[in-house]
Amino acid sequence: EKLGVCLVGLGNYSTNLLAPALQLTQYCELRGIVTGTPSKIPIWQKRYGIPDKNVYNYQNMDRMADNPDIDIIYIVLPTGLHALYAIKAANTGKHVWCEKPMAKSAKECQAIIDACIQNNVTLSIGYRMQHEPNTKKIIEWSKTLPYGKIKKVKAHVGFKITNPGNTWRMDKELGGGLLYDVGVYCINALRYTFGEEPIAVMGKHENTRPEVYKEVPETSIFEFDFPNGSIGDGKTTATQSVNLLHADCEKGWYELEPFQAYNGVQGRSSDGTLLNTYIENQQARQMDDDALAIMENRPMMVPGEEGMKDIVLLEAINESAETGKKVMLS
Ligand code: NAD
Repeated sequence: EKLGVCLVGLGNYSTNLLAPALQLTQYCELRGIVTGTPSKIPIWQKRYGIPDKNVYNYQNMDRMADNPDIDIIYIVLPTGLHALYAIKAANTGKHVWCEKPMAKSAKECQAIIDACIQNNVTLSIGYRMQHEPNTKKIIEWSKTLPYGKIKKVKAHVGFKITNPGNTWRMDKELGGGLLYDVGVYCINALRYTFGEEPIAVMGKHENTRPEVYKEVPETSIFEFDFPNGSIGDGKTTATQSVNLLHADCEKGWYELEPFQAYNGVQGRSSDGTLLNTYIENQQARQMDDDALAIMENRPMMVPGEEGMKDIVLLEAINESAETGKKVMLS
């Protein structure tokens, strides 16, 4: 018997990635929806055979507590709404999956974690890369160090965005811009590539188009100090197309490019080792890993604490950018 998933928020990611992926999963399936847009309901019901009793809106989703069809509530809303709805989800007694970035602040992340503990439900963050096999190899190498000590890691994600539009991602409160949207991939990658936590953070924002990037940074550049003098070099930008994770080690290097894309993640190393394991669908892999962990009562691969660590660092980047000073982390 598969676990039943209810998607909350039927925007681009739910419509074009998660719902199709839930047609490929072995351990979970799409059974419910929460939407504030009534016109979407018949389309989703018809496409995925969702019965009336499994259709909710933001006001009545608490009633899911009594619905045995639903085991997991997946929050796929603008970032500024994650905490409110992830906590509502936890309070129904269902397991919670929450998209990245986990929330707008470390305080909100902690509130989600606390709500899940209080309700005795699991919490998993939608970091699909940590389920992706080439990325998993990089994570393994942080422990086995096949190229010696890791000295410097670079994680840059950028898109040449001519017109970012007037979306929630450009709103300081609801989105926070590219640093939140894709910066968490860079922060997460620096942490998993080293397999360690940074001890200090420098951050800087740059803006060549203040008339377009009014509330959120166009480019963010950050440097993490890791123990033993290793350096993490992070960047997100709307001015240039880049998607690279590169590790320089004592005895060689390795990289993934792209390292954060939905498909085609691949890489190479200084000794010619290829990182080119193919999987059909990252989101299906992620949701199956998480569903199976719930079924087998094992810890989540990417728990709330992991999502929160990135938001703590993201807030340190913003603090450093504001003060011009290095932020020390204890
Ligand atoms: P989107 O704008 O396409 O969809 C957002 C949905 O939220 C819409 O259906 C909208 O109607 C709904 N919504 C409800 N209240 C809203 C409000 N007050 N303001 C704006 N929208 C509101 O966004 P998306 O690309 O689907 O992203 C949703 C979430 O998924 C975000 O957290 C994003 O970071 C995450 N995401 C993750 C990945 C990934 O690869 N893991 C990829 C894309 C998006």
